[in-house]
Amino acid sequence: MRLLLRSTFLVGLACTAGVSSAAATDCRPAAIERLQASAPEGFAIYQRIKDKKFFLNWISCDEAQFGLPTAVHESVHYITAEIDAFPLLGGGQLKRPHEVSAFFAPSLTAERFKNNDFVTSYLRPGAASSSSDFLYLLDELNAYTHDLNTAVVLSRSRSPVEGGDEVDHRDGLAALMAFVALYAERAADSEPATWDGLREPHVAKTVAELWGRAEKVMASSCGIPNFGTRDQVFIRQLCQRGPQAALHRIIHRAPVCPAACLKPTPVAAREGRLLAGATPTGSVQPNSAANPASWSRGISRGPWSERQ
Ligand SMILES: [Zn+2]
Repeated sequence: MRLLLRSTFLVGLACTAGVSSAAATDCRPAAIERLQASAPEGFAIYQRIKDKKFFLNWISCDEAQFGLPTAVHESVHYITAEIDAFPLLGGGQLKRPHEVSAFFAPSLTAERFKNNDFVTSYLRPGAASSSSDFLYLLDELNAYTHDLNTAVVLSRSRSPVEGGDEVDHRDGLAALMAFVALYAERAADSEPATWDGLREPHVAKTVAELWGRAEKVMASSCGIPNFGTRDQVFIRQLCQRGPQAALHRIIHRAPVCPAACLKPTPVAAREGRLLAGATPTGSVQPNSAANPASWSRGISRGPWSERQ
């Protein structure tokens, strides 16, 4: 099993990958066909991105879903930077609220989380744009929403002979939802300028729209076994009273805790799970849309030894 981390790393961490496996056996036409047939929202991202090669380069022929959730995720970042708006699941877009870049740095919340690769990649200072700029935390929340949605619908549409999927698709969105929720909580508790800013109508609407979609996609994934390894730790955190109360005051409704995702995974579904590696990916900087080379995919492999 591989755990995928997709992030907006700073330019300069770039390395190469993503092309070789697709080139070895060209599964790309079949992958796009599969996307079109089974994952209309993911296919909409493929249709929308002007640089088809960028999308296709993320396809990985040796992954169960051809790496399509990753391709959709990274392409969402690409489109977001290009149009200066978040492309929404289900269609439409929201102009990026640049005022949130003046909010406190998301890295200040890192200590609230047990250390793991998601925290290191997205919240530790110097790792990714999202650690210093809340705008990129929202960018990741949206990208992971598209990502998990693609994974869910592809999983549900696969034929029995395709077998199970062994990628931790749910972990990323669970992590980003927790990061946003605990960010809101800290703002409410001790960051008055950010707290006021989060409740400004344009910002609040953006958070509400992105959060609502994340919530629905997360809930839709809960019945799928083998879809998460670290998801429950994050979900428990985001379901705590403090983050829920803060979010409630921003989105003007009670957030929905994806409680079904907290049910124990059936024993049979856990058997044979070996976590073989991690794949941090991606890099987006403002105004870098025209330069796909600034997106990067770093690969680090090593066994996860624990289930948190
Ligand atoms: Zn990302």
